[in-house]
Amino acid sequence: MFQKILIANRGEIALRVLRACKELGIQTVVVHSTADADAMHVRLADESVCIGPPPSRDSYLNIHQIVAACEITGADAVHPGYGFLSENAKFADILAAHNITFIGPSGDHIRIMGDKIEAKRTAKRLGIPVVPGSDGAVTDQKEARRIAAEIGYPVIIKASAGGGGRGMKVALTEADLEVALQTASTEAGAAFGDDAVYIEKYLEKPRHIEVQVFGDGFGRGVHFGERDCSLQRRHQKVWEEASSPALNAEERARIGGICAKAIADLGYSGAGTIEFLYENGEFYFIEMNTRLQVEHPVTEAITGIDLVHEQIRVASGGGLSVKQEDIKFNGHAIECRINAEDPRTFTPSPGTITHFHTPGGLGIRVDSGVYSGYKIPPYYDSLIGKLIVHGRNRVECMMRLRRALDEFVVDGIKTTLPLFRDLVGNADIANGDYDIHWLEKYLAKEE
Ligand code: ADP
Repeated sequence: MFQKILIANRGEIALRVLRACKELGIQTVVVHSTADADAMHVRLADESVCIGPPPSRDSYLNIHQIVAACEITGADAVHPGYGFLSENAKFADILAAHNITFIGPSGDHIRIMGDKIEAKRTAKRLGIPVVPGSDGAVTDQKEARRIAAEIGYPVIIKASAGGGGRGMKVALTEADLEVALQTASTEAGAAFGDDAVYIEKYLEKPRHIEVQVFGDGFGRGVHFGERDCSLQRRHQKVWEEASSPALNAEERARIGGICAKAIADLGYSGAGTIEFLYENGEFYFIEMNTRLQVEHPVTEAITGIDLVHEQIRVASGGGLSVKQEDIKFNGHAIECRINAEDPRTFTPSPGTITHFHTPGGLGIRVDSGVYSGYKIPPYYDSLIGKLIVHGRNRVECMMRLRRALDEFVVDGIKTTLPLFRDLVGNADIANGDYDIHWLEKYLAKEE
């Protein structure tokens, strides 16, 4: 087992990882920018190293500084959290070259999944159902028209190097295709330095369903069930559930089994998430994330298993603490992402939190790094906390969520809490009846 883990992240996830390390009796080092000197995880860590000024590229993305911090403190492993360097294959390779363990998969697996065309090809080879579309990059209009006609309109043009919903264009008919192909490719070139694009059938009313998987480092793969993250705004997840209200036990076991086998065949090690669009009873692979997800706590709530403990165990060569048959799904969990944003316009609202009071009681978990008197710096993303609620079934979970939201107090800044208080009372949400466009339509109506 590791002696000392360096946490290369900030905010709630840095604290989340720190908690897991403490429980396992592992010493912790955190790195932070000058803007985060007062952060909770910095206060609670055994050691901290300031690695640069506020901009991420000079601190949380500065590989040299982070490797130097490992050398200075004698850390033998790095947990990257999510975002920042968590899916940076070069970072994983550099750590390996320094004999420091990257708590995540190999650089090569990160590389495959970071390229969407390559990822889709790999998924297909491993028996994972994919969205019908081109086999690889599409460059000329004639080929694009042929493929689009074959799969049928509407189609979506996506960037191979894409991320965060950028470089995607929908063509409803052949008349839109030429412009869509050109703009997607130009946008992708500008945003990612790679203008390769591919074509997929555009699904009109899908849900976003993702499967939590793990490779144990010895060639075995398991799944921890799915999460439904269909409630999104601008491709950003807002509310997540486990299990999905749309799946039955048979569908869960089927897609979970396909994913676990794929992970084993790939020889993948550590945590991963295989994301699908789900429509009319069919799953369509869109991408795989090779890291811990923001919404992992809903899976922890229904399985009772600490996924960060498992990541650390696997990375240290100790394998998983559970086998597939030990993983049982109990009850239902929902996570609300609480952002420091105006709940209507979603403009960021940094500043000082004058009062912070979190709900408590059975089935409530709040993952947050903030506290009363904490000043939110304006440099980073606006997530200030996650409320995770667990109940014996979805109805109990929703009732508990409603009262937890009533108890939650954040004064001094604007947050998205009022949005969740509205959503929890909505009939479609109560019925679990929503797709990936539901929230945007709802917000447009409310304006
Ligand atoms: P990114 O990595 O940029 O987030 P994804 O491939 O994960 O890109 O897709 C992001 C979102 O775009 C999906 O959650 C979905 O809302 C939409 N999307 C992607 N592919 C399709 C498709 N084939 N049909 C319909 N919507 C899609």
